[in-house]
Amino acid sequence: MTDLASTIDDALAQAHLPALLMSLVHLTGDAGLLTPERRPIYDPLEDVKLGGYSTAIQDDLRARAKTAIQAHLGGASLPAPPSPETVRRMMDWVAGVDIPANYAAFLTDELQLTGRDTKAPDWSSPALRAAAAKMKVLVVGAGMSGLLTGIRLKQAGIEFTILEKNADAGGTWFENVYPGCRVDNPNHMYSYSFEPNHDFPQYYSTQPVLLDYFRRFADRHGLRAHIRFETTVEEAVFDEAKGVWRVEVKTAEGGREFLEGAALITAVGQLNQPRYPDIEGLETFDGPSFHSARWRHDVDLTGKRVAVIGTGASAFQFVPEIAPKVAQLNVFQRTPPWMLPGPNYHLDVPEGKKWLLEHMPFYDKWYRFYLFWGLTDGLYEAVKADAGWNGPPEAVGLANAELRAMLVEAIRAQAPDRPDILEKIIPTYPIGGKRALVDNGVWVTALKRDNVDLITTGIARITPTGIVTNDGADHPADVIIHGTGFHASRFLWPMRIVGRGGVDLRTAWNGDARAYLGMTTPGFPNLFMLYGPNTNIVVNGSIIFFSECSVRYVMGALKLMAESGVQALEVKKQVHDDFNAKVDAANAMMAWGSPNVNSWYKNATGRVSQNWPFPLVDYWNATVAPNPEDFILGAKVTAPA
Ligand code: NAP
Repeated sequence: MTDLASTIDDALAQAHLPALLMSLVHLTGDAGLLTPERRPIYDPLEDVKLGGYSTAIQDDLRARAKTAIQAHLGGASLPAPPSPETVRRMMDWVAGVDIPANYAAFLTDELQLTGRDTKAPDWSSPALRAAAAKMKVLVVGAGMSGLLTGIRLKQAGIEFTILEKNADAGGTWFENVYPGCRVDNPNHMYSYSFEPNHDFPQYYSTQPVLLDYFRRFADRHGLRAHIRFETTVEEAVFDEAKGVWRVEVKTAEGGREFLEGAALITAVGQLNQPRYPDIEGLETFDGPSFHSARWRHDVDLTGKRVAVIGTGASAFQFVPEIAPKVAQLNVFQRTPPWMLPGPNYHLDVPEGKKWLLEHMPFYDKWYRFYLFWGLTDGLYEAVKADAGWNGPPEAVGLANAELRAMLVEAIRAQAPDRPDILEKIIPTYPIGGKRALVDNGVWVTALKRDNVDLITTGIARITPTGIVTNDGADHPADVIIHGTGFHASRFLWPMRIVGRGGVDLRTAWNGDARAYLGMTTPGFPNLFMLYGPNTNIVVNGSIIFFSECSVRYVMGALKLMAESGVQALEVKKQVHDDFNAKVDAANAMMAWGSPNVNSWYKNATGRVSQNWPFPLVDYWNATVAPNPEDFILGAKVTAPA
């Protein structure tokens, strides 16, 4: 067999067969391949890449694919693309369900079969080009959303500066360097839709791989020239007379400087200001004590007695990493996390799969689509409350209770011999109440170790030598690690943002941040927030999708300003208030809105200020383009030429 033939065989052995079938339809032009017996049935307990197909169908698909790939690589041209109706059928096929009709436009946009970056701005008309040339925009943050904003502004021909407090790009992937840090969304979906990476070494990339992806993105698109690193925005004031934001920054050298921009786009994330626990004696501890997002690699944990406070997404990743090297690990848990089985979590992507992603036309698109559907609105119904649910409070509805039962089984199966651990780690709140964590067994394995104790008695105080719990027990420690999360609901903090009439955003929000579609808020013209209030997603999906939608909308708002020649665009209060009323009503009907749950999704007033409570398709629909009726378009400046 030739090298190429064996490469193809190896690749096909790793193929996600339903995605492969879609690819075959493109390569052969034969929609007749979509026969009922080739419709996949996914069983999460089986190898899903086989689509539940019989061995005969598997062999047949691989043989057909081999012939088609060889022909393609031999120079055969592609037949006419499948019709929109066929593509629509293919979506149902690869998803394994009948996707509702209202998703078609949204999913077609996400699928990007034409290879065109459909979310890229089009400012090609002479009038817009002229208007863009006169615009200057300031962006805060060079993480995932800020870099994305940079490329869109560049595509539109708008001058921009990205102000970044850190010494490099990457945002959360620059700051979180704790052991075991990795994305908990499949990477072939957690990447820009227009910038796939077929070389991700693992299904869920580690922090260095992701940091590299974002850094290379910045390099490849020439964004670094627009970024001012180690430049911290302290204050931004809207100058009503000029219709510009005047931004005060602390520079790398420690000096102050003022910059101006027609619009201010914040891309600072929801999770970048570490929150230390409010525990008596916190400052009195004698040894090293640090937050997971400020990991001290200079502190060698080998042979030490280590206390970890918190069992959220961060601790869930670093505890299994440090457990084998420390002498004793005491993990202080207030609430157990829900875990979702994810057998691929730490696995390498086989070379064959990478080969297919790179060489088989459309395979990457359909594989991404499969991940996208399954992890987004696929789980939505299971975390929604049933109106009038009168079952046990550990669930919010029937589907939620059924999912709960499945997940409890999966947890129990990991420690049948350790009822002491099981009674502590099975959550009593509804699944979806907090972020569910991808579980491949390493968490429970760590908890079972002889040198690890999971302590669920509340913490009374921290002393110079360790932690004392409410039962009076003293737990000596050499090092304390705070896996206690972030000041998520203090949006844009600690920046001071002053809008129309000298109103401070913090005063306007009064501890309860709100925005229209997460992006604009009344009284603050030309201010756009990315990953702003009520744009976090809980049952997975990728936050990159949200950012891509938001940035498209922001570019649409800038276009609206350019086309109408106004210098101020401000959301109408009524529009904003009506939207927020709907958000609040919907959040109350989601698992995370349950009164039985406390989490970073709720702010100090108890309102869910972080999460998007609707299906993803609704955010896509709402953000394709801004509705001019939603805004007050202020003072005219010179009309675009
Ligand atoms: P987190 O989910 O907010 O977890 C904080 C933990 O600290 C919780 O277990 C919390 O308990 C506990 N805690 C807080 N204050 C405490 C106190 N005073 N005493 C005892 N325990 C206390 O924070 P995180 O783990 O840093 O994760 C935050 C978010 O970042 C995640 O939800 C996720 O969205 C994101 N994240 C993502 C990844 C990833 O993609 N791989 C990794 C890390 C983080 P309670 O639950 O009782 O409040």
